[in-house]
Amino acid sequence: MHQLKKIEMTGFKSFAKKSTLYFNSPVIGVVGPNGSGKSNVVEAFRFVLGEQSIKSLRSKSGADLIFKGSKSLPALSRASVSITFDNSKKQFSFSGSDLEKVSLDFDEIVITREVFRDGGNTYSINGTEVRLKDVLDLLASVHIGSSGHHIISQGAADRILTSNGKERKVMIEDALGLKVYQTKIREAEKKLEKTRLNMKEVSIQRRELAPHLAFLKKQVEKIEQASIVRADLESLFGSYQKSEISFIKNKKDELHNFEKEQKETLENIDKQISSLEKVMKERFSSAQDPRIEEHEKSLASFRHAKSDIEHSIGRLEGMIQVLENQGKHVGDNKPISRNTVVSFAKDTISTIDEALSSGDSTVLKNALSHIKSKLQNLVTIEEDVVIDNSALIQEHRDTITKLNQERNQIISREQNIQSAIASIKQEKSEHESNFAESEKNYLSLVRQKSDIESELRFSTHKHEDIKSREERLNQEIKELSVLIGPSAVLPKEDAELISTEEALSTLKQKIFRLKIKLEDSGSIGGNEITIEYQNALERDQFLMQELSDIDGAILNTTTLIAELRSTLMTEFKQGVEKINTQFQEFFSTMFGGGNAFLSILTLDKKENSEDEEVISDVDKADPIIEQGIEIHVSLPHKKVKDLQMLSGGERSLTSIALLFAISQVNPPPFLVLDETDAALDEANSRRYGDMIERLSKYSELIVVTHNRETMSRAKVLYGVTVGSDGSSKLLSVQFDEAEQYAK
Ligand code: ATP
Repeated sequence: MHQLKKIEMTGFKSFAKKSTLYFNSPVIGVVGPNGSGKSNVVEAFRFVLGEQSIKSLRSKSGADLIFKGSKSLPALSRASVSITFDNSKKQFSFSGSDLEKVSLDFDEIVITREVFRDGGNTYSINGTEVRLKDVLDLLASVHIGSSGHHIISQGAADRILTSNGKERKVMIEDALGLKVYQTKIREAEKKLEKTRLNMKEVSIQRRELAPHLAFLKKQVEKIEQASIVRADLESLFGSYQKSEISFIKNKKDELHNFEKEQKETLENIDKQISSLEKVMKERFSSAQDPRIEEHEKSLASFRHAKSDIEHSIGRLEGMIQVLENQGKHVGDNKPISRNTVVSFAKDTISTIDEALSSGDSTVLKNALSHIKSKLQNLVTIEEDVVIDNSALIQEHRDTITKLNQERNQIISREQNIQSAIASIKQEKSEHESNFAESEKNYLSLVRQKSDIESELRFSTHKHEDIKSREERLNQEIKELSVLIGPSAVLPKEDAELISTEEALSTLKQKIFRLKIKLEDSGSIGGNEITIEYQNALERDQFLMQELSDIDGAILNTTTLIAELRSTLMTEFKQGVEKINTQFQEFFSTMFGGGNAFLSILTLDKKENSEDEEVISDVDKADPIIEQGIEIHVSLPHKKVKDLQMLSGGERSLTSIALLFAISQVNPPPFLVLDETDAALDEANSRRYGDMIERLSKYSELIVVTHNRETMSRAKVLYGVTVGSDGSSKLLSVQFDEAEQYAK
């Protein structure tokens, strides 16, 4: 049973009132006089199946499709056509669109199209309003293509002959049900184009990101470098700090000990100096030794006493002599002995000298009285000569002895004093030599003292040096704290201790260089940059992934397109071959021989189409060869091969043979033939009728005809008449009536 059930027209063209054609027989004939509205029925098919060319519906606007009114009927505001298909086998489906709102789970599918006078146009499937696209999609699932090859309008039978190769190809592709591939290819190409655009965009984004990413990468490397430098710096500075502190402490201790030692030495020296100074003072006072003076005074008094004693002795001895002489030479003018005189003279000289040297008048007086008494003695000697003197002499001699004893005593004391003086002098000379030694010592001590004092003065500088070194270290700590953070400059127990000043100075230089390096790397906001870099990197990787995904998608789509094309090509070739077999058969049946076939013509796309859309990238990459279909015929007993040279009937037969062949290969649910048989003679009309019967096994056939032979093949005939109200009417008629109608 065929799928087509009925078609209903309401207000469509000449059909003012609802008119229905039922398709309950394989061949339906539509008959009626000229102008009754038969072609309007055919157009109703086109209309409801989504025809977009108003012109092909013989109208100028949508409004022309609506019943315009007659003498007795008013004009209508809308025209509607519904076509009903059987769907008990659930053959209808949507491929492209996934219309959830339309259920196809019904035994019937009703497609309705309406136009309104105001230009409105609607489609519905089973009462649900849909888009044209959905209608076409649904129809495609039952091989009803939009090329309309299965609806042959009046006078348009040889359209397939007059159209060009490309149009023929579209028609044949449509008939073969290959349009779905074309749709899929177009969709894939669109997708590809979109994907390529997307790829371009992503590539641009990535390219735009690249310099920023590179910049950030450099920054991050710098930061990492800086953090290594910072760590080095921290460790080196730790060692430096520890060593410097220890160094300063050692210096302090050293200096302290040195100063302590020096001060002790100085104290010691001071003691020695002050004792030496005492010794020296003594020396100056011993220059006039009071003891020697004392002794010399004693010596002088001794000399006086001695001289006095000697005087007395001399005088006594003189007196003794005088006395002795008086005894021997009484009355005798005995002269005074020379000894007496000399002794007297000596004595006198000495007394005078002493008096003179003293210069003292008392001494002078004493000396003079002494001299006078001596001189008196001398005179008296001369007068008292006669006196017995022996006792007196003896007395004198005793006195002399006593005096001598006294004198000896004085001499011995004198000697004692002299030896005392000598010993003092000895002692002094010894002292003198000791003093030279002391002086030498003293001077050396003074020198030492001054040396030590200058050392001590110098050590004040050393204190200052240490202090400034300490301050410098603190300053360095402060500076570094600013550069690498306060926690990084805390003293480190486990830091390496540098033992030599030289190594320490090398270390300091290293630290200096690292500091400069760190300062050079700038005060980059470390964390923020790193995060920004991470983000940029992630974005870049995301874009890269995106690109690779897109690449994959492009490859997939390209492959899909290639596959679709290849399938299309194969199926198209196979379809054409099948059509050719049928074409040959129909053709030779029609013409009683001869040959007819289609060939696939490949044309360079460029040559073929100036009016084509811009060649896309896809076509450049995979230049598809545009194909067309050429028709080859050779009539029996005739040399004519050019289609243009065929007679009207021949053209008609050829195109019918081809259309039938196409329909045979992939039978559509129905085939509408509007006076396709008009140009046929009786014999050909019979052959035509045979073919219609043959085709009706596969497709519902609706034949609009004036041809008796054709009518006879239809089991059901509809007559179209124009009623008294001026609108077309449909009524089922018998063959005899039909013959009447047709005339
Ligand atoms: P033929 O046998 O000569 O081909 P036909 O039966 O195919 O004729 P149609 O061409 O279908 O006749 O009918 C044409 C008729 O329909 C014309 O008389 C025309 O006036 C009428 N018609 C077309 N459009 C409208 C309309 N919008 N309103 C009323 N009548 C219309």
